[in-house]
Amino acid sequence: TKWVYGFGGGSAEGRSDMRELLGGKGANLAEMSNLGLPVPPGFTITTEVCTAFYDNDRAYPDGLEAEVEKSLAAVEALVGRKFGNPKDPLLVSVRSGARASMPGMMDTVLNLGLNDETVEGLAAVSGDRRFAYDSYRRFIQMYGDVVLGVDHYHFEEILEIHKEDKGYVLDTEMGADDWQVVVQGFKKKVDAELGRPFPQDPREQLWGAIGAVFGSWMNARANTYRRLHNIPASWGTAVNVQAMVFGNMGDDCATGVCFSRNPSTGEDRFYGEYLINAQGEDVVAGIRTPAPLTKIEREESGSDLLSMEEAMPGVFGELCDIRDRLESHYRDMQDMEFTVESGKLYMLQTRAGKRTAKAALRIAVEMCQANVISREDALRRVDPAQLDQLLHPTLDPDADRKVIGMGLPASPGAASGQIVFSAEVAEDWVHNRGRKVILVRIETSPEDIAGMHAAEGILTSRGGMTSHAAVVARGMGTPCVCGAGQVKIDYANKTMMSGGVTLKEGDVITLDGATGEVMLGEVATLKPDLSGDFSQLMEWADGVRRLKVRTNAETPDDAATARGFGAEGIGLCRTEHMFFDPARIISMREMILADTEKGRRTALDKLLPYQRQDFIDLFRIMKGLPVTIRLLDPPLHEFLPHGDNEITEVANAAGVAEVVVRRRLLELSEANPMLGHRGCRLGISYPEIYEMQTRAIFEAAIEVSKDGGDPVIPEIMIPLIVGKKELEILKAVIIKVAGEVETEKSAKLEFLVGTMIELPRAALRAGEIAEEAEFFSFGTNDLTQTTFGLSRDDASRFLDTYISKDIFAGDPFVSLDQEGVGELVSIAAERGRKTRSDIKLGICGEHGGDPSSIAFCEAQGLDYVSCSPYRVPIARLAAAQAAL
Ligand code: ADP
Ligand code: MG
Ligand code: MG
Repeated sequence: TKWVYGFGGGSAEGRSDMRELLGGKGANLAEMSNLGLPVPPGFTITTEVCTAFYDNDRAYPDGLEAEVEKSLAAVEALVGRKFGNPKDPLLVSVRSGARASMPGMMDTVLNLGLNDETVEGLAAVSGDRRFAYDSYRRFIQMYGDVVLGVDHYHFEEILEIHKEDKGYVLDTEMGADDWQVVVQGFKKKVDAELGRPFPQDPREQLWGAIGAVFGSWMNARANTYRRLHNIPASWGTAVNVQAMVFGNMGDDCATGVCFSRNPSTGEDRFYGEYLINAQGEDVVAGIRTPAPLTKIEREESGSDLLSMEEAMPGVFGELCDIRDRLESHYRDMQDMEFTVESGKLYMLQTRAGKRTAKAALRIAVEMCQANVISREDALRRVDPAQLDQLLHPTLDPDADRKVIGMGLPASPGAASGQIVFSAEVAEDWVHNRGRKVILVRIETSPEDIAGMHAAEGILTSRGGMTSHAAVVARGMGTPCVCGAGQVKIDYANKTMMSGGVTLKEGDVITLDGATGEVMLGEVATLKPDLSGDFSQLMEWADGVRRLKVRTNAETPDDAATARGFGAEGIGLCRTEHMFFDPARIISMREMILADTEKGRRTALDKLLPYQRQDFIDLFRIMKGLPVTIRLLDPPLHEFLPHGDNEITEVANAAGVAEVVVRRRLLELSEANPMLGHRGCRLGISYPEIYEMQTRAIFEAAIEVSKDGGDPVIPEIMIPLIVGKKELEILKAVIIKVAGEVETEKSAKLEFLVGTMIELPRAALRAGEIAEEAEFFSFGTNDLTQTTFGLSRDDASRFLDTYISKDIFAGDPFVSLDQEGVGELVSIAAERGRKTRSDIKLGICGEHGGDPSSIAFCEAQGLDYVSCSPYRVPIARLAAAQAAL
């Protein structure tokens, strides 16, 4: 096996399509070298070494050391310096690089190879002692922190004390001697903390850093990130060792981060930030506020810092050319890192840039219209789950708002919530107390990931558009305002001060991630605009997909929203939701309390007009599109009163004694209602309930058909059957009612009768069931519960443990368990079709809006998926991707 791949000097052993082996960073460094771009030479230790390392009790594979030596020698030859040479040392960076980018998860060590001797050599060669010692102190701090585990605050403290002693405010006031003193302090600190000196041997440093990168693959932060993003631990990370170039050698040096298009809006305009006389992390760390790359950006943002375009026009021009080359080469928006050393430009990284949903849509649509990518590629480029960001509200421009602060518009969307000042509190309040929070931090770091995930929005007082908070928030689709400098945050007292107000933990603010505004209290929001790029991409998706997309809706509001999002029918209308209305619940309870059929029918007669009106409203909104209506499903006790007051109320309303109500409550109570007297079992016991519902449906259909237009063809669905017999009995009830209504109204009815497949037995007996059923709808929520024997309401207590122990790949209620539940779906589909070749098949569980479950439905050849209204666009795109 080859363990190490070199790059640099206009060629490379690797390529961009080798990211599995070389990691994203390594593969693209190789590709940029192959393209002849100015990349400092280096080499990549493969992800296979990482895997071997962990398989082999943290030992390196044979032959690795020799390969590293050989590659190091090649770098030395290209640069013309030797690693560890005290006169003119080669310095390197050691950088991690996983297959999928994991921002901030792995730490980079810069300036490696410096020691007490080589630092003098560097000073002599560069003619700049200050630069040499500045580099050395950075190295000791990074190496100390990342490799040796000496926390960075120890180093910061030493620096702060030195500056205080000297009366300095800024790092720039530090001279060569100052840095040298600080370096002495740093080394002493390491010695004191570890009981051994800071390693002086460059080779020991190199292997220490390589080991730290591989070690960090399994640290807690990386594990959390992988879990949140479904990245398997088995992928491993690569390590890149690369010759250093210096952005901190003076005012003709700089370092920066840029995007070939705007990652927030998608606009086709070069976008980025840079810092003069600085090294890598400085831009992202938020220590100094970076300047805009372009002149126009500076003008628009009102920044008083000179743009790179103005400060370094020549290098800026080169960077623009590289932007064009990389974007047309990769045919996608690129996120690039660069450094300028004494007026010469070097590229240090490129990758497909993370972007907001809005930007993803715009870029995909514009690149397709410019014939850079195909329509299929455009559809693949947008992550369906990300569309969610666009479907949610933005601030109502007419709403009153009291702006108390302003920062950078780092990730769009409006969010309100209670402020908290730590990631732990954010998690606790959200998960244990059901609160909505805004996480307020001076800056964020990878330890904060879980809290950032829990928060509705993120506010930081420091850092630019490419700071950790901004990058992570955009990736998660969480609204974020960052670098709001006038917001003063006091962690100790848990307060923030801004715009003349002091807020404490728990106070409510609103963020607008599209403008950067921070507002007091909760501000009203508006529905999103779904025209333009959104409707264009959706149109392309609709042209490609085979699966129909319906919605789960019972209220006119939900149905209308879903229609607006492009739903092609209702796949699940849950009639029980219609009975909780205060005006109806009385009659419902009267019906349940009645102990004779006659009593029940009297109460049901009162419910009939309400129920009929519900269906009239729904049918009108759906204008002839299919509507699947599920007859009453939950156990009756769910409608009964809880608590003494309610019992008295119901007894009075029904004109019975309280004891009667209490007795009935006892009679109806079940040890395990989920598996109890519910679904079609109610219809079998009390057919009059289903008769009333069916009559309401038919009468509504006839009423709405009078409007003209397409006829209403209701699909009546029987829940929770275990076999053919129940369906046979209940279908007869439906057909009888249809006959009656047809005679009474002298009209002709068209309708379908079908069933949910939501119990394993029903899935297995699907062949017979299809003799009666004209359609199946897979109720995968119940089917998952009953296949796993796992209650959806209680599983959360141990689900995390199951997932972290790798027993479950994920939450089976979110993504369909294709192996088990999926096999039942597939058996039922096959057996159903064998009996009735044109049987309609759909899915109506939560899974109907989950992209990977939708891909499964496509593979099974189902006719449609049905999901909640806000997931309809997601399902349309996911269905298109599944069909590509
Ligand atoms: P991350 O994955 O967190 O982005 P990187 O490995 O890209 O970490 O390193 C962070 C920064 O360090 C880079 O953006 C770059 O500015 C700087 N850096 C890395 N390698 C070098 C190098 N060889 N020369 C100069 N700067 C470097
Ligand atoms: Mg980087
Ligand atoms: Mg069910």
